[in-house]
Amino acid sequence: MTDQIKPRCPKCGSSDIGRVAYGWRDEALERAELDGELTVGGQRVDENQPTHFCRECSHRWNQWPNGGIAIPPVGAAWSWIVMFADTYNGYEHHGDLEGLTALHDQQRRKHGLGEDLSNDVGVLRAMLFYEYRSDRFGGGYGPDEKERNFIDAVLARLFEVTDGTVPGPSESPEVTR
Ligand SMILES: [Zn+2]
Repeated sequence: MTDQIKPRCPKCGSSDIGRVAYGWRDEALERAELDGELTVGGQRVDENQPTHFCRECSHRWNQWPNGGIAIPPVGAAWSWIVMFADTYNGYEHHGDLEGLTALHDQQRRKHGLGEDLSNDVGVLRAMLFYEYRSDRFGGGYGPDEKERNFIDAVLARLFEVTDGTVPGPSESPEVTR
């Protein structure tokens, strides 16, 4: 798991810190936690949640100045990405399934050609939303290698065009289409 920023503990100043992850406790998440790579904060993603923890004093905090919703880093557990994706209603913002599908095809094509993905945070969040919805309707087995590659490119791009967070509140659409 990569981490693009090197913050320090605001309480004790230690730089020995890890990410607070969110998601269902699957095997990958349990293993990462046992390795001390991250700690699991819960099964819900929202604004103002702790994003980092200190290995020295166990303090947890939200690293982002605006207390936003933390973007999962490249390589993050799929369950965390699903919960993050669900904080944005892609149908609402991009013309329902038809508009969203066209947008997804366009970004996938760019990715295939090695071009930069959109620098629009809404478009990037919509890509994660689309992937999560199509996975759910495909049986919920998680992305295959090609899809995962695209998803990680979207996460990397999100970190390039943001401070690592998106503003709340969560839209949590729980749409049924
Ligand atoms: Zn500390």
